[in-house]
Amino acid sequence: MVRADHHVHLERGPWTLDWLGRFVAQARAVGLTEIGFSEHPHRFRECRKMYPPRRAVEGWVDEQCTESLESYVRLVEDARRAGLPVKIGLEWDFLPGYEHELDRLLRTYPWDFAIGSVHWLPPADPDGVWWGFDNLSRAEEWERRDVLDAYRQYFRLISQAAATGFFDFVGHADVIKVCGYRPAADLSDLYAEAAAAFAKSGVCAEINTAGWRKPVGEVYPAPSFLQACRRAGVPTLINSDAHVPEDVGRDFDRAVAIARQAGYSDIATFTGRVRTMVPLE
Ligand SMILES: [Zn+2]
Ligand SMILES: [Zn+2]
Repeated sequence: MVRADHHVHLERGPWTLDWLGRFVAQARAVGLTEIGFSEHPHRFRECRKMYPPRRAVEGWVDEQCTESLESYVRLVEDARRAGLPVKIGLEWDFLPGYEHELDRLLRTYPWDFAIGSVHWLPPADPDGVWWGFDNLSRAEEWERRDVLDAYRQYFRLISQAAATGFFDFVGHADVIKVCGYRPAADLSDLYAEAAAAFAKSGVCAEINTAGWRKPVGEVYPAPSFLQACRRAGVPTLINSDAHVPEDVGRDFDRAVAIARQAGYSDIATFTGRVRTMVPLE
């Protein structure tokens, strides 16, 4: 049996084998057989050029960009040599206009999987900065934006991200809802269009249980969006997006139930960027 969590962040800890081992111990405690680490590139100096320059992006990109990607890759390789069932990826940000640097970094390291996520919306005016909308401390920006426009913009970007062919799966496919701002409109057309784009480019859409732990209080993607993915033939997998050891594998039983309700009977795992389907259990 394979039961994996391919979306886990070490970044709040000290980047040591000891810290990493706590995530693996939790994975084992909740019955997982594999764990995949998926750091945010904005933490690594080598990835800084994937983001807009300082004047065009919120200041915290430069504050956060302090670690070494080489060290992260070595840490996970050391864990693997120590016999731990670990895989390595990144949760890549998709910002249109910065694909070249992303492409280069994808080719430079031995990734097991690549998550494509949209966390940034372009500036609302020419002198503005990119908005990291999933950063809860930037939620006041919602009061300045039209909610439906922001959703439309977000859904265009995830479809565009999928179409690049860079990614194995789309991260938290409707994370635009994270703060709980929702348009009054029916979203089924946006869901169907995104699902069709995912299917066309062969990417999976993860079920990400972190949504249950955020202000919105709903899994990503919303069950009706997941059903649209299923109808379009988009494979899925189940991930926690844990940032602390206790959240590894969290709420996977609930997520399995939602996957079954949507009609899934198998899920994806990844090794060396190759996808294998295993029974959903
Ligand atoms: Zn994310
Ligand atoms: Zn994440």
